[in-house]
Amino acid sequence: MEQLGFEGMPRRLYTCTPTRLTTWLDCPRRYRMGYLDRPAPPKGPPWAHNSLGASVHNALAGWWRLPLPRRTAHAAGALLQQGWINEGYASDDQSAKYRDWARQLVEGYAAGLDPADEPVGVERTVATRTDVIAVSGRIDRLDARPSDGGGTELVVVDYKTGRHVLSVDDARSSLALAIYAIAAARVLRRDCRRVELHHLPTGQVFGWDHTPESLRRHLRRAEDVATECADADERMRAPLAADSYDEVFPPRTSPGCGWCAFLRHCPEGQAAAVSRRPWDGLAEL
Ligand code: SF4
Repeated sequence: MEQLGFEGMPRRLYTCTPTRLTTWLDCPRRYRMGYLDRPAPPKGPPWAHNSLGASVHNALAGWWRLPLPRRTAHAAGALLQQGWINEGYASDDQSAKYRDWARQLVEGYAAGLDPADEPVGVERTVATRTDVIAVSGRIDRLDARPSDGGGTELVVVDYKTGRHVLSVDDARSSLALAIYAIAAARVLRRDCRRVELHHLPTGQVFGWDHTPESLRRHLRRAEDVATECADADERMRAPLAADSYDEVFPPRTSPGCGWCAFLRHCPEGQAAAVSRRPWDGLAEL
């Protein structure tokens, strides 16, 4: 159904991922360039830290797909090695150094897992909808853990490989994790209130137990953001004259502009941020 947009007429559901919503919140211009501009503006070169993160995620997902007897720590390292994504590094030597480090990360992490403790889902896509949004996303891992009531409940696990120090607040405030919990509960018809960030470089887990009310708050927030996005999308389709882009999609500069894939197309971002080399986001070794 087309989005009608006339006053008093129903609008169609806004279909999105949590990332799309948070991109709008971070910077409406980046949202426009990433989701609406056609042809899409070319992005900058790949970031080495993203390559590393994807390599680790792939290895851990692959590990759970191995037959149980083969789920050893060594096997996790071998998967990392085989699937290593080599993009964004300064040199082959640098790439090899980080590959060895990442191999240790996944081996150490896998050594702390019970291979028989089969997750309910690995890289599982879940979705939910309200009267306003249809939102879907992919969960790194969905566990079933014993609950206080004697049964089991689902736990959303998100792997982190970045160098930034995390906190419980990151788990509590994450719109994406809350949406995943809501969607997992809906799809699997089981309680899901706990969300966890597993930071592999430090081995720390930052978890948060949502309440039904805190999950509802996140969902309402997602709906509010989606409504803003839908309005902006509609104005873009009107169509919007290029000299009015910044009125609807203003640049929101921050130090984070240095990591924006569209920095080369954004003079305000260039003025606000230090330009980064593709390997600058890697942790110091
Ligand atoms: S460089 Fe900064 S202001 Fe420009 S689009 Fe990217 S995030 Fe937005």
